[in-house]
Amino acid sequence: MNKVYLSIGTNIGDREQNLKLALQQLEGKTDVSVKAISSIYETAPVGYVDQPAFLNIALLIETSHSALEMLQICQFVENELGRVREIRWGPRIIDLDILLYNNDNIEVENLIVPHPRMFERAFVLVPLLEIADGYESPQLEMAKFSLESMNLVAEGITKWKTINSADEFL
Ligand code: ATP
Ligand code: MG
Ligand code: MG
Repeated sequence: MNKVYLSIGTNIGDREQNLKLALQQLEGKTDVSVKAISSIYETAPVGYVDQPAFLNIALLIETSHSALEMLQICQFVENELGRVREIRWGPRIIDLDILLYNNDNIEVENLIVPHPRMFERAFVLVPLLEIADGYESPQLEMAKFSLESMNLVAEGITKWKTINSADEFL
């Protein structure tokens, strides 16, 4: 089984409901098992700042799917929830990104893993490290190291809702 960490973000509409719908969609896929879900964090937008605040979570998934198959699944879920691609880094109903796939380094045309911007994003690292099961992997070590150098107040991230399990959340 492959261990895959995903990051999910939303800043349009009923944001908590969007997270739930994305999780339900993922759970509904063959061979996708959600093993852990982080608390929900709220973050002020970065980059394109003239947009509503985001809710972000991280998930740990076990799957027999390849990384490229997981990317297709993520994009399928984005489409199911009605994501339309407009402004890069602009407002979105849902964004599902693959953070880590085992300890693999992947660089193909449409997929880079570890996610190329994850180590500079508190809104990715904080939820990820909440659910990371031990720091046995060099990539999770790097995530921890990166987060230690950040000022979370300056990054504008706060815990929005504590989540203890996927069952509780859905
Ligand atoms: P960012 O990648 O900075 O978080 P974004 O998530 O808004 O921005 P998207 O519009 O969701 O960007 O995706 C743009 C492209 O990124 C996708 O078409 C996808 O092929 C590619 N991509 C590359 N690496 C990854 C990854 N690890 N997870 C998800 N998409 C990826
Ligand atoms: Mg993204
Ligand atoms: Mg994305």
